[in-house]
Amino acid sequence: MNRVEECDAVIIGGGPAGASAACVLAEHGRRVVVLEREQFPRYHIGESMIPFTYPALERIGLLPRLRESGFVKKYSVQFVSPSGRASQPFYFFNRYDRETVAQSWQVLRSEFDQMLLDHARSRGAEVRERHEVVEFLKEGNRHVGVRVRTPSGDLADWRAPMTLDASGREAIAATRNAWRRGDPRLNKVAVWTYYEGSRRDTGIDEGQTTVAYIPNKGWFWHIPLHQDRVSVGVVAEGKYLTRGGIKDPRAIFEREIPENRWIAERLSTGRCLGDYWLTAEYTFRSQYSAADGLVLAGDAYGFLDPVFSSGMMLALKSGVAAGDAIHAALQAGDCRAERFTGYSQMMHEGIENMRKLVYAFYDPQVTFRNVTDRWPELAGDLTDCLSGDVNKDFSRLFAAFGEFMTLPETLPYGFPRSAGHPEPVTT
Ligand SMILES: Cc1cc2nc3c(=O)[nH]c(=O)nc-3n(C[C@H](O)[C@H](O)[C@H](O)COP(=O)(O)OP(=O)(O)OC[C@H]3O[C@@H](n4cnc5c(N)ncnc54)[C@H](O)[C@@H]3O)c2cc1C
Repeated sequence: MNRVEECDAVIIGGGPAGASAACVLAEHGRRVVVLEREQFPRYHIGESMIPFTYPALERIGLLPRLRESGFVKKYSVQFVSPSGRASQPFYFFNRYDRETVAQSWQVLRSEFDQMLLDHARSRGAEVRERHEVVEFLKEGNRHVGVRVRTPSGDLADWRAPMTLDASGREAIAATRNAWRRGDPRLNKVAVWTYYEGSRRDTGIDEGQTTVAYIPNKGWFWHIPLHQDRVSVGVVAEGKYLTRGGIKDPRAIFEREIPENRWIAERLSTGRCLGDYWLTAEYTFRSQYSAADGLVLAGDAYGFLDPVFSSGMMLALKSGVAAGDAIHAALQAGDCRAERFTGYSQMMHEGIENMRKLVYAFYDPQVTFRNVTDRWPELAGDLTDCLSGDVNKDFSRLFAAFGEFMTLPETLPYGFPRSAGHPEPVTT
């Protein structure tokens, strides 16, 4: 017999989605347990925060810790052509409040995620590291908790009326249930590494994110971090990056450096810190956002190409919203999937709006300038969506993009699995 423990809500994964949901549930007085496979601090990609990450950070009370931290402050973003010509920086304070939304951070995720998980602990959440969830516990169609492998290798059961899957791109609910749906036109490859001592801007531009183009709508990210490090990566079609049969991540990365003069010049004075990472086929959505007793948040719900750095905003926002929705379900004594319809609509709308801009970014017929030159009055909408204020009506903006390109169909995924709904066929 496995050891059995009970709580109100069990959370799989202690990343931004899981930890923020834990903060909210603990604040509501719930007994919440976070089961995290790794021992923190652990490495993670995803360092740049967009402005509208702010409301979630404020809600969970993390801002004082962030303000005391050494993370580099981010005020702007710029785009650089392959020849090295940089656009005017776009400063967020030209549209948003200087003291709040207009300043975000570039974070080393090992440190940020540790800070956030410690914060969840300090709010009353129980956190178990080196606990890997291996199975969902079910009674009929109802989820009633998880089975976990503990650090000693034993199995234990955590039973709870609500389970939150915040397992990141592992997406264990979507993967185990064959709910994972790809986005065939967003099947890019990313290769990245870290440099130290490379050239960086100073003052207010020190923490600026740069998106630097290479041919074929590929791009580099350049994200300055503290301790004189930068995160630098290249994203493009796999066919382009591996042309000529090159597969080694370092060789891929080094071959692309001269494709953008700004990147080449910035990195020339620095030293690569050694490791290279590669990931492929990363955009996906879960067919379902919830089942009875189960809800999905963050990357486990869906992951979108990172060109606009939307991942952490979506993870934190969904963690907070899922935490509130779980509390309401527990209060009502009704944890059926349907209770998460409002939550799912909010997530679906936000991801779909961002996704349309990602398609526009990669479309060979379109530049954002095409749209804002012809309809200057839409520049504000474009900025809002890119900054992460994604739950708004952008129909005028997308109608304008539609003059230059065919926008993608809205994906019908990411809603609750209602009772009796047949399991989907794996694609
Ligand atoms: C190339 C690339 C670049 C990116 N750049 C950015 C960026 O600049 N800005 C940005 O905002 N986002 C970026 N992202 C996205 C960002 O990394 C994610 O959106 C974000 O980390 C999602 O948070 P999460 O909490 O959902 O998942 P994660 O942060 O992945 O956390 C999930 C946690 O679950 C744990 N876990 C997994 N399986 C189990 C299990 N079975 N049992 C227990 N625990 C488990 C993992 O150990 C992990 O700690 C990027 C992503 C990629 C791939």
